[in-house]
Amino acid sequence: MKKIYMDYAASTPVDEKVFEEMLPFLKTSYGNPSSIHSLGVEAFDAVEEARERVAKLIHAKDDEIIFTSGGTESDNFAIKGVAYKNKDKRGGKGYNIITSSIEHPAVLETCKHLESQGFKVRYLPVDKYGIVNPDDVKTAISKDTFLVTIMFANNEIGTIEPIEEIGKITKKNDVLFHTDAVQAISTIPIDVKGLNIDLLSISSHKIYGPKGCGALYARKGVKLQPLMHGGGHEGKLRSGTYNTPGIVGLGKACEIVKERISTDAKNLKSLRDSLIKNVLKIEESYLNGHPEKRLANNAHFRFSAIEGESLNLMLDDEGIAGATGSACSSKKLQASHVLIAIGLKPEEAHGSLRLSLGRQSTKEEISIVYEKISKIVEKLRYMSPLWNR
Ligand SMILES: *Cc1c(COP(=O)(O)O)cnc(C)c1O
Repeated sequence: MKKIYMDYAASTPVDEKVFEEMLPFLKTSYGNPSSIHSLGVEAFDAVEEARERVAKLIHAKDDEIIFTSGGTESDNFAIKGVAYKNKDKRGGKGYNIITSSIEHPAVLETCKHLESQGFKVRYLPVDKYGIVNPDDVKTAISKDTFLVTIMFANNEIGTIEPIEEIGKITKKNDVLFHTDAVQAISTIPIDVKGLNIDLLSISSHKIYGPKGCGALYARKGVKLQPLMHGGGHEGKLRSGTYNTPGIVGLGKACEIVKERISTDAKNLKSLRDSLIKNVLKIEESYLNGHPEKRLANNAHFRFSAIEGESLNLMLDDEGIAGATGSACSSKKLQASHVLIAIGLKPEEAHGSLRLSLGRQSTKEEISIVYEKISKIVEKLRYMSPLWNR
């Protein structure tokens, strides 16, 4: 059975060209980039070339890129790194950090941890599409605020946030602005200077690079407290021997994104729209997230009287990889915080399915997936006591 992968938002395959560039750094150019012999210099040069490629993609300077172990570390570093530098701002009446209620757990759990350390965090609500109101950001800022962290685009429902407006507000109020751009970077051109972004998180494995590697852009002048102490790599900000193959892979992945971002976005959007158009033909099916302000590769559906987990498992039996809107937390099946934040009832949230597309997606896959979903939904509803037709 031919497999159909529609979970690119969870991870992507490594691009062939990325893989080829990485190989020598696993096999022959294995020197430590910090060593002074020629094998070390070879690796050092490759790391610096990768840095340049990452910087170019977001219009940053090379020395504003810090390599990390992925999106999670970049988010942790940006938020804790800034918070620990502003410890003396704790204890006031106002919020120290402003974020949204639909962030990735890497941001939300970091903020929760900081609350336990005495920082005050405001989790802004979102509208029914998952959009943060920039006026809410403005209102929440006080003299105690040092950081606003709002994601560029949501990983579950694909909603794109008003980053430009928020950037104007943070700049005017002299507050740092961090954005988790992990999902956005491969289809939305980003100019960090033009958007007044001070800190931005990138993950390699979401953009056809290897897992376990990422980057944090930190504008020159932004002060961060290191989380990793050791040999003093990355200007003493992030110690640890360079993951040369990973970094080289991330650099190449960024270079490829820069080359094909507009064609990728255009193709994905057209595939996405045909997927959405087809699936919404199913009785009592709905689109979660914004119809237009959404990632080019994201489709997120909700079906009445359907259990998303069952739908997803039955799709898997047919060789189709999707994702449910809800994440299994501990032993209890907990409804997704994102779907609850946009106002869905837990049972509606549980009836959701995310299909995310990528470079290998085709028109044929879209029609197969639509056919299978409509059959499975019909079958599940036939057995469901909630579906009384
Ligand atoms: C995947 C993801 C992360 C985590 O990145 P890792 O590299 O897997 O740690 C963070 N934020 C968003 C929005 C993501 O989609």
